[in-house]
Amino acid sequence: MRITKKILTDLAIWMVMFGILAGVVFPFFVVFMGVSEALALSPMFFAATLCAGITVGGLNYLIAHWVIRPRLRYLSQKMGDIGTQIQQATYTGDWTSCSPEKCAVKVESEDEIGGCALAFNSLLDAFSESRHVEQAVVNFTHSLSSTLNIEELAEDALAQILAHTNAQAGALVIEASGELEIAAARAIKEPATILESDQIRHMFRDGKEIRFTVPDDLRIDGIVADFKPREICTIPVSFNDVPIAAMVLISSTGFKRGALRLARLFRQGLGLAIQNALAHRQLQRVAALDPLSGAYNRRFGMKRLREEYSRAVRNNSNLALIMFDIDHFKKVNDTYGHLVGDRVIVAVCDAGQRILRGDDVLVRYGGEEFCAILPGATLQNALDIAERIRRVVEETSVEDGDQRINVNISAGVAVYPDQPTESEVALLDHADKKLYVAKLEGRNQVRH
Ligand code: GH3
Ligand code: MG
Ligand code: MG
Repeated sequence: MRITKKILTDLAIWMVMFGILAGVVFPFFVVFMGVSEALALSPMFFAATLCAGITVGGLNYLIAHWVIRPRLRYLSQKMGDIGTQIQQATYTGDWTSCSPEKCAVKVESEDEIGGCALAFNSLLDAFSESRHVEQAVVNFTHSLSSTLNIEELAEDALAQILAHTNAQAGALVIEASGELEIAAARAIKEPATILESDQIRHMFRDGKEIRFTVPDDLRIDGIVADFKPREICTIPVSFNDVPIAAMVLISSTGFKRGALRLARLFRQGLGLAIQNALAHRQLQRVAALDPLSGAYNRRFGMKRLREEYSRAVRNNSNLALIMFDIDHFKKVNDTYGHLVGDRVIVAVCDAGQRILRGDDVLVRYGGEEFCAILPGATLQNALDIAERIRRVVEETSVEDGDQRINVNISAGVAVYPDQPTESEVALLDHADKKLYVAKLEGRNQVRH
Protein backbone atom coordinates (compact mmCIF):
# COMPACT_ATOMS: atom_id res chain seq x y z
CA MET A 1 0.00 0.00 0.00
CA ARG A 2 1.48 3.34 -1.08
CA ILE A 3 1.61 6.34 1.29
CA THR A 4 3.93 8.81 -0.44
CA LYS A 5 5.38 9.01 -3.93
CA LYS A 6 8.72 7.58 -2.71
CA ILE A 7 9.02 3.87 -2.09
CA LEU A 8 11.89 4.24 0.40
CA THR A 9 9.94 6.91 2.35
CA ASP A 10 6.96 4.54 2.41
CA LEU A 11 9.33 1.86 3.70
CA ALA A 12 10.58 4.19 6.44
CA ILE A 13 7.02 5.09 7.50
CA TRP A 14 5.96 1.43 7.55
CA MET A 15 9.01 0.34 9.54
CA VAL A 16 8.56 3.10 12.16
CA MET A 17 4.82 2.35 12.35
CA PHE A 18 5.59 -1.33 12.92
CA GLY A 19 8.17 -0.20 15.56
CA ILE A 20 5.44 1.85 17.32
CA LEU A 21 3.01 -1.07 17.09
CA ALA A 22 5.66 -3.40 18.52
CA GLY A 23 6.36 -0.84 21.27
CA VAL A 24 2.63 -0.69 22.12
CA VAL A 25 2.04 -4.45 21.99
CA PHE A 26 5.26 -5.51 23.74
CA PRO A 27 4.20 -4.50 27.35
CA PHE A 28 1.00 -6.62 27.03
CA PHE A 29 3.05 -9.47 25.68
CA VAL A 30 5.43 -9.40 28.65
CA VAL A 31 2.40 -9.27 31.04
CA PHE A 32 1.20 -12.43 29.27
CA MET A 33 4.63 -13.90 29.80
CA GLY A 34 4.32 -13.30 33.60
CA VAL A 35 5.87 -9.88 34.22
CA SER A 36 3.88 -7.84 36.74
CA GLU A 37 1.32 -5.44 35.28
CA ALA A 38 2.54 -2.63 37.53
CA LEU A 39 5.92 -2.75 35.85
CA ALA A 40 4.96 -3.73 32.30
CA LEU A 41 2.11 -1.27 31.92
CA SER A 42 3.92 1.60 33.60
CA PRO A 43 4.37 4.75 31.46
CA MET A 44 8.15 4.40 31.68
CA PHE A 45 8.07 0.83 30.31
CA PHE A 46 5.69 1.91 27.54
CA ALA A 47 7.98 4.81 26.66
CA ALA A 48 11.02 2.49 26.64
CA THR A 49 9.39 -0.14 24.40
CA LEU A 50 8.03 2.58 22.10
CA CYS A 51 11.54 4.08 21.79
CA ALA A 52 13.00 0.62 21.14
CA GLY A 53 10.35 -0.10 18.47
CA ILE A 54 10.89 3.25 16.74
CA THR A 55 14.68 2.81 16.89
CA VAL A 56 14.53 -0.70 15.40
CA GLY A 57 12.11 0.52 12.69
CA GLY A 58 14.39 3.50 11.92
CA LEU A 59 17.55 1.34 11.87
CA ASN A 60 15.87 -1.17 9.59
CA TYR A 61 15.04 1.62 7.21
CA LEU A 62 18.61 2.98 7.33
CA ILE A 63 20.07 -0.45 6.57
CA ALA A 64 17.64 -0.93 3.68
CA HIS A 65 18.55 2.57 2.52
CA TRP A 66 22.30 1.79 2.55
CA VAL A 67 21.96 -1.58 0.88
CA ILE A 68 19.32 -0.93 -1.77
CA ARG A 69 19.55 2.73 -2.67
CA PRO A 70 23.12 2.73 -4.18
CA ARG A 71 22.22 -0.16 -6.43
CA LEU A 72 19.02 1.41 -7.59
CA ARG A 73 20.82 4.72 -8.07
CA TYR A 74 23.56 2.99 -10.11
CA LEU A 75 20.94 1.35 -12.31
CA SER A 76 18.89 4.48 -12.82
CA GLN A 77 21.96 6.61 -13.54
CA LYS A 78 23.39 4.09 -16.00
CA MET A 79 20.06 3.71 -17.77
CA GLY A 80 19.69 7.48 -17.93
CA ASP A 81 23.23 7.93 -19.35
CA ILE A 82 22.67 5.23 -21.96
CA GLY A 83 19.32 6.76 -22.88
CA THR A 84 21.08 10.10 -23.51
CA GLN A 85 23.82 8.42 -25.57
CA ILE A 86 21.27 6.57 -27.68
CA GLN A 87 19.37 9.79 -28.29
CA GLN A 88 22.57 11.53 -29.40
CA ALA A 89 23.68 8.61 -31.57
CA THR A 90 20.30 8.60 -33.29
CA TYR A 91 21.09 12.03 -34.70
CA THR A 92 24.90 11.87 -35.04
CA GLY A 93 24.94 8.34 -36.45
CA ASP A 94 27.94 7.47 -34.26
CA TRP A 95 26.91 4.37 -32.31
CA THR A 96 30.38 3.41 -31.08
CA SER A 97 29.65 4.42 -27.49
CA CYS A 98 26.33 2.55 -27.43
CA SER A 99 27.41 -1.02 -28.08
CA PRO A 100 26.01 -3.64 -25.66
CA GLU A 101 29.59 -4.44 -24.55
CA LYS A 102 30.20 -0.84 -23.50
CA CYS A 103 26.78 -0.06 -22.13
CA ALA A 104 25.84 -3.25 -20.27
CA VAL A 105 25.19 -2.71 -16.54
CA LYS A 106 26.81 -4.88 -13.85
CA VAL A 107 24.60 -7.66 -12.50
CA GLU A 108 25.45 -7.72 -8.79
CA SER A 109 22.74 -9.87 -7.26
CA GLU A 110 20.45 -12.75 -8.01
CA ASP A 111 17.31 -10.97 -6.85
CA GLU A 112 14.91 -8.56 -8.52
CA ILE A 113 17.57 -5.82 -8.69
CA GLY A 114 19.93 -8.21 -10.47
CA GLY A 115 16.97 -9.29 -12.63
CA CYS A 116 16.35 -5.66 -13.45
CA ALA A 117 20.00 -5.27 -14.60
CA LEU A 118 19.75 -8.48 -16.63
CA ALA A 119 16.52 -7.32 -18.24
CA PHE A 120 18.13 -3.98 -19.08
CA ASN A 121 21.11 -5.74 -20.68
CA SER A 122 18.88 -7.95 -22.80
CA LEU A 123 16.90 -4.86 -23.77
CA LEU A 124 20.19 -3.34 -24.96
CA ASP A 125 20.98 -6.50 -26.96
CA ALA A 126 17.54 -6.44 -28.56
CA PHE A 127 17.92 -2.75 -29.32
CA SER A 128 21.36 -3.29 -30.83
CA GLU A 129 20.08 -6.14 -33.01
CA SER A 130 17.11 -4.11 -34.14
CA ARG A 131 19.47 -1.24 -35.02
CA HIS A 132 21.72 -3.59 -37.03
CA VAL A 133 18.73 -4.96 -38.89
CA GLU A 134 17.45 -1.46 -39.59
CA GLN A 135 20.92 -0.45 -40.80
CA ALA A 136 21.16 -3.50 -43.03
CA VAL A 137 17.75 -2.73 -44.56
CA VAL A 138 18.68 0.95 -45.03
CA ASN A 139 22.03 0.01 -46.66
CA PHE A 140 20.32 -2.56 -48.84
CA THR A 141 17.60 -0.17 -49.99
CA HIS A 142 20.14 2.61 -50.49
CA SER A 143 22.40 0.45 -52.66
CA LEU A 144 19.41 -0.58 -54.78
CA SER A 145 18.48 3.02 -55.42
CA SER A 146 21.88 3.70 -57.03
CA THR A 147 21.04 1.96 -60.31
CA LEU A 148 18.12 1.36 -62.65
CA ASN A 149 19.97 -1.33 -64.54
CA ILE A 150 18.24 -4.61 -63.69
CA GLU A 151 21.37 -6.78 -64.01
CA GLU A 152 23.54 -4.50 -61.85
CA LEU A 153 20.75 -4.20 -59.33
CA ALA A 154 20.19 -7.95 -59.16
CA GLU A 155 23.93 -8.69 -58.79
CA ASP A 156 24.26 -6.23 -55.94
CA ALA A 157 21.08 -7.38 -54.19
CA LEU A 158 22.00 -11.06 -54.48
CA ALA A 159 25.49 -10.48 -53.06
CA GLN A 160 24.01 -8.75 -50.01
CA ILE A 161 21.26 -11.34 -49.52
CA LEU A 162 23.78 -14.20 -49.66
CA ALA A 163 26.05 -12.43 -47.16
CA HIS A 164 23.22 -11.84 -44.70
CA THR A 165 21.70 -15.33 -44.93
CA ASN A 166 24.97 -17.28 -45.06
CA ALA A 167 23.75 -19.03 -48.21
CA GLN A 168 26.61 -20.40 -50.31
CA ALA A 169 24.82 -20.12 -53.64
CA GLY A 170 21.78 -18.39 -54.98
CA ALA A 171 19.98 -16.68 -57.80
CA LEU A 172 17.55 -13.89 -58.37
CA VAL A 173 14.83 -14.80 -60.85
CA ILE A 174 12.61 -12.08 -62.27
CA GLU A 175 9.45 -12.18 -64.32
CA ALA A 176 9.50 -9.69 -67.16
CA SER A 177 6.74 -9.52 -69.78
CA GLY A 178 5.44 -12.92 -68.69
CA GLU A 179 8.82 -14.63 -69.05
CA LEU A 180 11.06 -15.83 -66.23
CA GLU A 181 14.70 -14.84 -66.48
CA ILE A 182 17.79 -15.19 -64.31
CA ALA A 183 18.78 -11.66 -63.35
CA ALA A 184 21.76 -12.77 -61.25
CA ALA A 185 23.29 -16.03 -60.07
CA ARG A 186 26.16 -17.01 -57.79
CA ALA A 187 27.91 -20.38 -57.51
CA ILE A 188 25.11 -22.19 -59.35
CA LYS A 189 26.19 -24.61 -62.04
CA GLU A 190 23.56 -23.98 -64.68
CA PRO A 191 21.36 -21.12 -63.55
CA ALA A 192 18.95 -21.54 -66.49
CA THR A 193 17.80 -24.93 -65.12
CA ILE A 194 16.29 -23.07 -62.14
CA LEU A 195 13.68 -21.60 -64.47
CA GLU A 196 12.30 -25.08 -65.16
CA SER A 197 12.09 -26.17 -61.54
CA ASP A 198 8.68 -26.91 -59.98
CA GLN A 199 9.68 -24.96 -56.90
CA ILE A 200 10.02 -21.74 -58.92
CA ARG A 201 6.81 -22.31 -60.86
CA HIS A 202 4.83 -22.98 -57.68
CA MET A 203 6.31 -19.95 -56.00
CA PHE A 204 5.33 -17.62 -58.83
CA ARG A 205 1.86 -19.16 -58.93
CA ASP A 206 1.13 -19.12 -55.18
CA GLY A 207 3.43 -16.30 -54.06
CA LYS A 208 4.47 -18.39 -51.05
CA GLU A 209 7.91 -19.12 -49.67
CA ILE A 210 9.08 -22.69 -50.25
CA ARG A 211 11.75 -24.40 -48.14
CA PHE A 212 13.08 -27.73 -49.20
CA THR A 213 15.48 -29.91 -47.24
CA VAL A 214 17.44 -32.14 -49.57
CA PRO A 215 17.10 -35.74 -48.32
CA ASP A 216 20.38 -37.46 -47.45
CA ASP A 217 19.83 -40.18 -50.02
CA LEU A 218 19.21 -37.71 -52.86
CA ARG A 219 22.56 -37.35 -54.64
CA ILE A 220 22.68 -33.95 -56.29
CA ASP A 221 26.27 -33.16 -55.34
CA GLY A 222 27.86 -30.91 -57.92
CA ILE A 223 24.69 -30.71 -60.01
CA VAL A 224 23.07 -27.56 -58.65
CA ALA A 225 26.23 -26.14 -57.14
CA ASP A 226 29.80 -27.25 -56.48
CA PHE A 227 28.80 -28.43 -53.02
CA LYS A 228 26.04 -30.75 -51.81
CA PRO A 229 23.02 -28.57 -51.05
CA ARG A 230 21.32 -29.26 -47.74
CA GLU A 231 18.50 -26.77 -47.94
CA ILE A 232 17.01 -24.70 -50.76
CA CYS A 233 14.71 -21.81 -50.01
CA THR A 234 12.71 -19.81 -52.52
CA ILE A 235 11.42 -16.50 -51.22
CA PRO A 236 8.92 -14.50 -53.29
CA VAL A 237 9.48 -10.81 -53.96
CA SER A 238 6.25 -9.02 -54.72
CA PHE A 239 5.06 -5.70 -55.97
CA ASN A 240 1.44 -4.81 -55.22
CA ASP A 241 0.99 -8.34 -53.87
CA VAL A 242 1.96 -9.88 -57.21
CA PRO A 243 5.17 -11.99 -57.23
CA ILE A 244 7.59 -10.35 -59.68
CA ALA A 245 10.81 -12.02 -58.56
CA ALA A 246 12.19 -14.86 -56.46
CA MET A 247 15.25 -15.20 -54.30
CA VAL A 248 16.62 -18.73 -54.58
CA LEU A 249 18.98 -19.41 -51.68
CA ILE A 250 21.02 -22.59 -51.32
CA SER A 251 22.78 -23.65 -48.13
CA SER A 252 25.23 -26.50 -47.72
CA THR A 253 24.37 -26.94 -44.04
CA GLY A 254 20.74 -25.83 -43.77
CA PHE A 255 19.67 -22.35 -42.75
CA LYS A 256 20.10 -21.49 -39.09
CA ARG A 257 17.13 -20.20 -37.12
CA GLY A 258 16.48 -16.59 -38.05
CA ALA A 259 18.99 -16.63 -40.95
CA LEU A 260 16.28 -15.91 -43.50
CA ARG A 261 14.59 -13.15 -41.53
CA LEU A 262 16.70 -10.40 -43.08
CA ALA A 263 16.11 -11.73 -46.58
CA ARG A 264 12.38 -11.51 -45.90
CA LEU A 265 12.79 -7.93 -44.68
CA PHE A 266 14.68 -7.01 -47.87
CA ARG A 267 11.74 -8.07 -50.01
CA GLN A 268 9.77 -4.85 -49.91
CA GLY A 269 12.65 -2.61 -51.02
CA LEU A 270 13.77 -5.17 -53.56
CA GLY A 271 10.27 -5.50 -55.04
CA LEU A 272 10.04 -1.76 -55.56
CA ALA A 273 13.57 -1.53 -57.00
CA ILE A 274 12.97 -4.41 -59.44
CA GLN A 275 9.65 -2.93 -60.51
CA ASN A 276 11.35 0.43 -61.19
CA ALA A 277 14.20 -1.19 -63.10
CA LEU A 278 11.78 -3.25 -65.20
CA ALA A 279 9.69 -0.17 -65.93
CA HIS A 280 12.86 1.68 -66.92
CA ARG A 281 13.93 -1.17 -69.21
CA GLN A 282 10.48 -1.21 -70.76
CA LEU A 283 10.57 2.56 -71.28
CA GLN A 284 13.97 2.35 -72.89
CA ARG A 285 12.70 -0.35 -75.20
CA VAL A 286 9.64 1.66 -76.11
CA ALA A 287 11.81 4.70 -76.77
CA ALA A 288 14.16 2.66 -78.93
CA LEU A 289 11.69 0.56 -80.92
CA ASP A 290 9.52 1.36 -83.87
CA PRO A 291 5.95 0.56 -82.76
CA LEU A 292 4.87 -0.91 -86.12
CA SER A 293 7.71 -3.25 -86.96
CA GLY A 294 9.39 -3.82 -83.60
CA ALA A 295 12.77 -2.98 -85.20
CA TYR A 296 14.85 -0.21 -83.68
CA ASN A 297 13.72 3.24 -84.67
CA ARG A 298 15.91 5.57 -86.65
CA ARG A 299 16.97 7.74 -83.70
CA PHE A 300 18.14 4.78 -81.61
CA GLY A 301 19.53 3.01 -84.69
CA MET A 302 21.75 5.96 -85.57
CA LYS A 303 23.00 6.11 -81.98
CA ARG A 304 23.86 2.40 -82.16
CA LEU A 305 25.52 2.92 -85.54
CA ARG A 306 27.70 5.70 -84.09
CA GLU A 307 28.74 3.44 -81.20
CA GLU A 308 29.44 0.45 -83.44
CA TYR A 309 31.38 2.59 -85.92
CA SER A 310 33.56 4.03 -83.11
CA ARG A 311 34.17 0.53 -81.80
CA ALA A 312 35.12 -0.75 -85.24
CA VAL A 313 37.58 2.15 -85.69
CA ARG A 314 38.98 1.65 -82.17
CA ASN A 315 39.36 -2.13 -82.50
CA ASN A 316 40.25 -2.05 -86.16
CA SER A 317 37.38 -4.46 -86.80
CA ASN A 318 34.77 -4.76 -89.52
CA LEU A 319 31.40 -3.10 -89.60
CA ALA A 320 28.94 -3.88 -92.37
CA LEU A 321 25.75 -2.04 -93.29
CA ILE A 322 22.91 -3.34 -95.44
CA MET A 323 20.37 -0.76 -96.59
CA PHE A 324 17.26 -2.33 -98.09
CA ASP A 325 14.04 -0.88 -99.42
CA ILE A 326 10.83 -2.50 -100.64
CA ASP A 327 10.46 -2.28 -104.39
CA HIS A 328 7.48 -0.43 -105.82
CA PHE A 329 5.90 -0.18 -102.43
CA LYS A 330 3.71 2.75 -103.45
CA LYS A 331 1.86 0.31 -105.69
CA VAL A 332 1.12 -1.98 -102.72
CA ASN A 333 -0.35 0.94 -100.83
CA ASP A 334 -2.30 2.16 -103.82
CA THR A 335 -3.68 -1.28 -104.65
CA TYR A 336 -4.39 -2.77 -101.22
CA GLY A 337 -4.49 0.23 -98.91
CA HIS A 338 -2.20 1.48 -96.17
CA LEU A 339 -3.19 -1.13 -93.58
CA VAL A 340 -2.15 -3.96 -95.87
CA GLY A 341 0.97 -1.92 -96.71
CA ASP A 342 1.73 -1.84 -92.98
CA ARG A 343 1.44 -5.61 -92.76
CA VAL A 344 3.86 -5.96 -95.68
CA ILE A 345 6.36 -3.72 -93.87
CA VAL A 346 6.06 -5.93 -90.74
CA ALA A 347 6.53 -9.10 -92.82
CA VAL A 348 9.69 -7.72 -94.48
CA CYS A 349 11.01 -6.64 -91.08
CA ASP A 350 10.33 -10.12 -89.62
CA ALA A 351 12.18 -11.71 -92.52
CA GLY A 352 15.18 -9.47 -91.78
CA GLN A 353 15.08 -10.24 -88.06
CA ARG A 354 14.98 -13.99 -88.74
CA ILE A 355 18.13 -13.87 -90.86
CA LEU A 356 20.19 -11.51 -88.69
CA ARG A 357 22.41 -12.81 -85.86
CA GLY A 358 22.31 -11.94 -82.17
CA ASP A 359 24.68 -8.97 -82.28
CA ASP A 360 23.17 -7.49 -85.43
CA VAL A 361 20.77 -4.59 -85.21
CA LEU A 362 17.85 -3.98 -87.55
CA VAL A 363 16.73 -0.38 -87.87
CA ARG A 364 13.61 0.93 -89.58
CA TYR A 365 15.40 3.76 -91.31
CA GLY A 366 12.44 5.26 -93.12
CA GLY A 367 8.92 4.26 -94.24
CA GLU A 368 9.77 0.98 -95.96
CA GLU A 369 13.50 1.31 -95.83
CA PHE A 370 15.63 -0.66 -93.38
CA CYS A 371 19.25 -0.61 -92.31
CA ALA A 372 20.95 -3.67 -90.84
CA ILE A 373 24.07 -3.03 -88.76
CA LEU A 374 26.39 -6.04 -88.70
CA PRO A 375 29.33 -5.62 -86.32
CA GLY A 376 32.32 -7.75 -87.27
CA ALA A 377 30.87 -8.90 -90.63
CA THR A 378 33.07 -9.12 -93.70
CA LEU A 379 31.85 -8.02 -97.13
CA GLN A 380 31.14 -11.63 -98.02
CA ASN A 381 29.18 -12.20 -94.77
CA ALA A 382 27.13 -9.07 -95.40
CA LEU A 383 26.44 -9.98 -99.05
CA ASP A 384 25.34 -13.47 -98.00
CA ILE A 385 23.03 -12.13 -95.35
CA ALA A 386 21.60 -9.46 -97.66
CA GLU A 387 20.98 -12.11 -100.34
CA ARG A 388 19.26 -14.39 -97.80
CA ILE A 389 17.00 -11.55 -96.68
CA ARG A 390 16.20 -10.75 -100.28
CA ARG A 391 15.33 -14.37 -100.97
CA VAL A 392 13.21 -14.84 -97.85
CA VAL A 393 11.28 -11.64 -98.64
CA GLU A 394 10.75 -12.87 -102.18
CA GLU A 395 9.34 -16.13 -100.84
CA THR A 396 7.14 -14.47 -98.24
CA SER A 397 3.62 -13.42 -99.07
CA VAL A 398 1.08 -11.43 -97.13
CA GLU A 399 -2.53 -12.53 -97.45
CA ASP A 400 -5.38 -10.09 -97.91
CA GLY A 401 -8.64 -12.02 -98.24
CA ASP A 402 -7.99 -14.42 -101.09
CA GLN A 403 -5.16 -12.30 -102.46
CA ARG A 404 -1.50 -13.07 -101.84
CA ILE A 405 0.79 -10.09 -101.97
CA ASN A 406 4.42 -10.63 -102.78
CA VAL A 407 7.11 -7.98 -102.66
CA ASN A 408 10.82 -7.77 -103.33
CA ILE A 409 13.57 -5.72 -101.85
CA SER A 410 16.67 -4.08 -103.25
CA ALA A 411 19.74 -3.85 -101.03
CA GLY A 412 23.02 -1.92 -100.92
CA VAL A 413 25.98 -3.11 -98.86
CA ALA A 414 28.93 -1.14 -97.50
CA VAL A 415 31.68 -2.43 -95.20
CA TYR A 416 34.20 -0.60 -93.06
CA PRO A 417 37.22 -0.63 -93.43
CA ASP A 418 36.89 -1.99 -97.01
CA GLN A 419 35.31 1.41 -97.57
CA PRO A 420 37.79 3.69 -95.79
CA THR A 421 35.08 6.10 -94.69
CA GLU A 422 35.59 9.04 -92.35
CA SER A 423 32.42 8.61 -90.40
CA GLU A 424 29.38 6.38 -89.93
CA VAL A 425 27.33 8.84 -91.98
CA ALA A 426 29.69 8.36 -94.93
CA LEU A 427 29.40 4.56 -94.61
CA LEU A 428 25.62 4.84 -94.50
CA ASP A 429 25.70 7.11 -97.51
CA HIS A 430 27.78 4.55 -99.36
CA ALA A 431 25.30 1.74 -98.62
CA ASP A 432 22.46 4.05 -99.70
CA LYS A 433 24.18 4.77 -103.00
CA LYS A 434 24.56 1.03 -103.61
CA LEU A 435 20.86 0.59 -102.86
CA TYR A 436 20.16 3.23 -105.48
CA VAL A 437 22.33 1.31 -107.95
CA ALA A 438 20.34 -1.87 -107.17
CA LYS A 439 17.14 0.04 -107.87
CA LEU A 440 18.50 1.47 -111.11
CA GLU A 441 19.75 -1.88 -112.32
CA GLY A 442 16.32 -3.50 -112.12
CA ARG A 443 15.51 -3.94 -108.38
CA ASN A 444 15.18 -7.23 -106.44
CA GLN A 445 18.95 -7.50 -106.12
CA VAL A 446 21.92 -6.80 -103.81
CA ARG A 447 24.70 -4.40 -104.80
CA HIS A 448 27.94 -3.35 -103.18
P1 GH3 B 1 11.07 2.02 -105.10
O1 GH3 B 1 11.09 0.65 -105.69
O2 GH3 B 1 11.84 2.99 -105.93
O3 GH3 B 1 11.50 2.03 -103.73
O4 GH3 B 1 9.60 2.46 -105.20
P2 GH3 B 1 8.62 2.77 -104.02
O5 GH3 B 1 7.26 2.81 -104.55
O6 GH3 B 1 8.84 1.80 -102.93
O7 GH3 B 1 9.13 4.19 -103.62
P3 GH3 B 1 9.47 4.75 -102.24
O8 GH3 B 1 10.43 3.85 -101.58
O9 GH3 B 1 9.87 6.16 -102.42
O10 GH3 B 1 8.04 4.68 -101.56
C1 GH3 B 1 7.83 4.82 -100.25
C2 GH3 B 1 6.35 4.68 -99.98
O11 GH3 B 1 6.13 4.04 -98.76
C3 GH3 B 1 5.72 6.04 -99.86
C4 GH3 B 1 4.86 5.97 -98.64
O12 GH3 B 1 3.53 6.22 -98.89
C5 GH3 B 1 4.98 4.56 -98.17
N1 GH3 B 1 5.11 4.47 -96.75
C6 GH3 B 1 6.03 5.07 -95.96
N2 GH3 B 1 5.84 4.74 -94.67
C7 GH3 B 1 4.76 3.90 -94.64
C8 GH3 B 1 4.08 3.21 -93.60
O13 GH3 B 1 4.41 3.29 -92.41
N3 GH3 B 1 3.02 2.44 -93.94
C9 GH3 B 1 2.62 2.33 -95.25
N4 GH3 B 1 1.61 1.55 -95.50
N5 GH3 B 1 3.25 2.97 -96.21
C10 GH3 B 1 4.30 3.74 -95.96
MG1 MG C 1 10.61 1.52 -101.97
MG1 MG D 1 11.71 4.03 -99.84
